[in-house]
Amino acid sequence: MPAPRCASCHKARAALRRPRSGQALCTTCFCASFEAEVLHTVVAGRLLPPGAVVAVGASGGKDSTVLAHVLRELAPRLGISLHLVAVDEGIGGYRDAALAAVRRQAARWELPLTVVAYAELFGGWTMDAVARSTAGSGRSRSCCTFCGVLRRRALEEGARRVGATHVVTGHNADDMAETVLMNFLRGDAGRLARGGGLGSPGEGGALPRCRPLQLASQKEVVLYAHFRRLDYFSEECVYAPEAFRGHARDLLKLLEAARPSAVLDLVHSAERLALAPAARPPPPGACSRCGALASRALCQACALLEGLNRGRPRLAIGKGRRGLDEEGSPREPQPSGPPTSEPIPGF
Ligand code: SF4
Ligand code: ZN
Repeated sequence: MPAPRCASCHKARAALRRPRSGQALCTTCFCASFEAEVLHTVVAGRLLPPGAVVAVGASGGKDSTVLAHVLRELAPRLGISLHLVAVDEGIGGYRDAALAAVRRQAARWELPLTVVAYAELFGGWTMDAVARSTAGSGRSRSCCTFCGVLRRRALEEGARRVGATHVVTGHNADDMAETVLMNFLRGDAGRLARGGGLGSPGEGGALPRCRPLQLASQKEVVLYAHFRRLDYFSEECVYAPEAFRGHARDLLKLLEAARPSAVLDLVHSAERLALAPAARPPPPGACSRCGALASRALCQACALLEGLNRGRPRLAIGKGRRGLDEEGSPREPQPSGPPTSEPIPGF
């Protein structure tokens, strides 16, 4: 049986059914709809004002590749300029190939690219060195916790170097739903209380961050990359199989099979769970070492690095008081909860 006609243009044959709505669309109408939906997310959420210099966290993976491509299409209408910022975590056999994909994208799309490296920013520490250091501490499964904290810092630093006013990352709806599940499973009330908005406004001097693909499903991100013939890197990081996020992902797939709206339901439930600002823990102060936003004497990145430099990495990522507080000088009683990583979705 021939494919039905596209439900939008009524001319071309449909190439897919949209996973959520079941609407049959041709490739041209699907890509146009996808881009229009991202535009709507950005405009309705007032995420990127005209004149913004936007640092796009570029990992070479599908999400950040699609994000950079779509924003490049939308940039003239939004009145923004783009700068790719890639982070080299120092993961042998993985990151070099991913960075090669980012370099090809920058060249093809004529976008400026800046690469910042953990080794340069964090006193010689690479993720491979962190993995070796944590291997003997019973914490080798925590690579993504270290990496998530350090990468957030590295991306912020890269964005500042290029004069960016905003940071965007490629997290999609599935990534966000996984994060909500992980926060529940860890009992991380602090993160649940802050909710799951489309980004953060830039507290404490940090640059505003947002996730324009947060309402786009993973399946549609992959379909968009396929139909636009985007060149991206799809291998998994060598440390990813250890990540807790993988279990949340499996759980989410089971939920979605039983209830197709489960992903978006979780994304929106995070918004509804957010507490009013007055009911949240006190606003964070500044790290006594680097000045970054911190809810303890040291920010997460400095505390992790301190533990690594002392050769006691497990103290740096332990839970609550047995963790960061043992490392440094407790400035005041702190809300408990481990530093939370954003493991697999690079940007
Ligand atoms: Fe870092 Fe991602 Fe690899 Fe984890 S999976 S170590 S967060 S690059
Ligand atoms: Zn710090």
